[in-house]
Amino acid sequence: MSAADAVTDSLQSLRDRFVGVREGRPADYIPQLALADPDAFGLALVSMDGHRYVAGEAEVPFTLQSVSKPFVYALALSLLGLDEVSRWVGAEPSGEAFNAISLEPGTGRPANAMVNAGAIVTTALIPDTPDDPAFDRILRCLGCFAGRELDVDEEVFSSESVTGDRNRALAYLIRSTGTMPVDPVLAVDRYFRQCAIRVTAVDLATMAATLAYGGVNPVTRERVVSAEVAARVLAVMATCGMYDGSGDWLLRVGLPAKSGVSGGLIAVGPARFGVATYSPPLDATGGSVRGHAALEAMSDRYGLHLMLNP
Ligand code: GLN
Repeated sequence: MSAADAVTDSLQSLRDRFVGVREGRPADYIPQLALADPDAFGLALVSMDGHRYVAGEAEVPFTLQSVSKPFVYALALSLLGLDEVSRWVGAEPSGEAFNAISLEPGTGRPANAMVNAGAIVTTALIPDTPDDPAFDRILRCLGCFAGRELDVDEEVFSSESVTGDRNRALAYLIRSTGTMPVDPVLAVDRYFRQCAIRVTAVDLATMAATLAYGGVNPVTRERVVSAEVAARVLAVMATCGMYDGSGDWLLRVGLPAKSGVSGGLIAVGPARFGVATYSPPLDATGGSVRGHAALEAMSDRYGLHLMLNP
């Protein structure tokens, strides 16, 4: 068997092993997400030579949700630099749920850019000009990470828009502490749009692989962000990407990762690979149950824990 066949084979066997797992339910607080097929289970891996490996429903479209957060953080760091971004958003794990109504004591900033509060502020930091509106910049940048032009699922966007009062409340709370750079309603609208960008597991694996490859998309060979920005994003994913499950994830799986409530999950092997899974049923932290199980098993099987491979 060739090395390429072996990778495909191992993704397929991870799928076979965990496709029968029945725990968890798709998110329903965004009504449109509850319509997702709970049986869909796709896996994709992109290597540093730009090879794409897939198993199962790796080409099924779904919305980015919180998997958008590290990439918009990367854009903010690229445009504004770490010092300016850090005036508005911290980099400490919050130990709280993704949608916690909570800000850092003392500074009044959101704890980090992976929780909703911090992601809303990060989105609000993206410059918005008449000839280059902020959302266009976001969509374009995320498309460069994915290696293709992306679009927005308007149904998911309006579904979250009509039910998203908790995020709006959070945005107003942030303004009250002086750490919201634009109008809260505008910020949340832009954030919901970014969460509704449509991708597949193959797109996510390519986006993750771009972070793994020091900010260069290994498929298109385009430089999307600097190596420094990619490294910083991976650091925040490692400590905060899985919310209140981040410590346990780093302990067991040992890779920077990001989950989203539509069932997408990415993990990054720096300088080695980007991997993604799609499976809508979620655990208590809002991460994909099957995705979590599959990536933990993959890390165990191939010794991918970063502390094993310094
Ligand atoms: N759009 C979702 C929200 O703000 C994203 C949350 C997530 O994926 N964890 O609630």
